[in-house]
Amino acid sequence: MTATTPEQPSPSTRLARGLTLRCPQCGGHGIIVSWFKMRPNCPSCGLLLDRGSRDFFIGAYLINLIVSEVLFAIILGTIVWATWPATSWDALQYIAVAAIVVAPLTTYPFTKTTWLAFDLIFAPPADKDWARR
Ligand SMILES: [Zn+2]
Repeated sequence: MTATTPEQPSPSTRLARGLTLRCPQCGGHGIIVSWFKMRPNCPSCGLLLDRGSRDFFIGAYLINLIVSEVLFAIILGTIVWATWPATSWDALQYIAVAAIVVAPLTTYPFTKTTWLAFDLIFAPPADKDWARR
C-alpha cells in the first residue's frame, strides 16, 4: 500500500452499500439508471461498474438465482406449514409460478450491486477500474 492509496471500505460497508443499491466503493447514489440497467461508471467516484469485463455480471445472475430459489422455498414452505393439512395445491401451483417470475425480477438490481461489492472485497479496485476523467 502506498501513501497515495485511499483507504478502502470494510467488507461489511461494501456489502451494506451494495444491498442498498449504492456504489460499494464510495457509497454514492445514482449507479442504477433503471431497474434493469446500471451506469457504466459511478457518477460519484468514477469506478467502472463492470470492472472492464463484458461478462462481469454473470456472478450476479448466480446470486439472483440462489436468492430467488431460497425465497421461493421459504414462501412455499411457509404456506404449506400454515395451511396444513388443508393445503390448496391448485392455489399453491399458481402462487409458485408467480413467485418464480416475480422473485428474480424483484431482486435483480440488488444482486448486481451485491455482486460488485463481493468482487471489490476480494479484488479491490486497481488503476484500470476507474473511468478516465
Ligand atoms: Zn462510487
